[in-house]
Amino acid sequence: MDLKTLSSLHSIFREVQKKQDWKVALDTLFVSLRDTFVFDNAAIFLEDPKNKGLEVVYARAVGRGKTAEADAIWGEGVASEAIATDQMVLKQPLQGTNKTTARLHQAYLLGCPMHIGARLSGALVFIRFGGPQYTELHIELASLQSFWAAALIERRDLHQARIELNSVQRQMRLQDDFVSTISHELRTPLGFIKGYSTSLLREDTTWDDATRREFLNIIDEEADRLTRLIEDMLESARLQSKTLQFKFSPIRVDALMRDVATRIMSRSSRLKVKFDLRPLPPIRGDGTRLAQVFENLFSNALKYAPNSDIHISMLPLKDKIRIDFSDSGDGIPSDYLPFIFERFYRVPGERTVTGTGLGLYICKQIVMAHHGNIWVESVLGKGTTFVIELPASSTL
Ligand code: ADP
Repeated sequence: MDLKTLSSLHSIFREVQKKQDWKVALDTLFVSLRDTFVFDNAAIFLEDPKNKGLEVVYARAVGRGKTAEADAIWGEGVASEAIATDQMVLKQPLQGTNKTTARLHQAYLLGCPMHIGARLSGALVFIRFGGPQYTELHIELASLQSFWAAALIERRDLHQARIELNSVQRQMRLQDDFVSTISHELRTPLGFIKGYSTSLLREDTTWDDATRREFLNIIDEEADRLTRLIEDMLESARLQSKTLQFKFSPIRVDALMRDVATRIMSRSSRLKVKFDLRPLPPIRGDGTRLAQVFENLFSNALKYAPNSDIHISMLPLKDKIRIDFSDSGDGIPSDYLPFIFERFYRVPGERTVTGTGLGLYICKQIVMAHHGNIWVESVLGKGTTFVIELPASSTL
């Protein structure tokens, strides 16, 4: 090998290496070698570990108007043979049979086995319509490209595995945090219930009626808090295992939202809610569950934006309705926004507000069960808006 070839290969490899996306990297490789290695179509076939069939994971068409994936079927036989034999497979028409009219339809195929993670599990196949014949140099180059493609696919797999691992690690951390949160959340109301009932039972003290009532009220509220907490936990478990039953019927979401707002306002007198409602079509939904979503949003606004008014707008779109639920509280730092709908996730920081990180997870699962969507938009110091879209006439 001469120095010039080596340094041009080196610069090609450096360019390929820089590309993040493995398909773009492969495109770069093929394009860089185009002067020396010409082909019409190339495709990578990988064995599908489930059904053992071959799957086209990459296809590139450069000539003769071929569309990549749709036409990749031409390479399947050669790919299977290359995998079965672990050898390069060359299929070329016999010389002398190429009459000009039929020439363009004659396929010159070259298949290279690919070892991914030391396992023979795929093949890179090239096709030239109407030739020319593959020379020894071409065959070497094809083999080099298949090694490179295998390395890129391995890199893709490792990248995917790293993402999954990170997500599992985050989930495990959340579970750990959850155990400490939940024990705190269970202990606090239990502590109140135990403390006040013990006080009421003391035989050496008598309480006047007003004090007794106040103690009983606290016990009652704390028991409700415990019930809610346990219900949230059970519900999130059922939603995760997809065993929660929904009862769908035609409902008016605007009326439902007003009912929930009235209920909440009767409990928190300082809360101000501004509505901006357009006439909305009824939707098919589970009224109890959707009310639960709205209650959660109110409860969060009261907890995390305690001095803010709430603004709710609802408008019909083409085939859905859109609800914007906004407060003007402190907002959520953008780094945390991608996670707040995850189960058990709570924004880190000084914790004065109680919670379990289940509320928004439950909201999201309920909205998704309606084939809708929920997301958050938040600006630090300005406020937070939760947006919900629900299909107008769902087929549920
Ligand atoms: P919880 O309230 O039990 O912590 P949620 O799932 O309801 O759990 O909310 C997840 C996190 O999102 C909360 O811990 C809070 O930090 C953040 N959050 C939710 N709603 C708001 C809001 N309106 N303003 C600011 N932060 C919010």
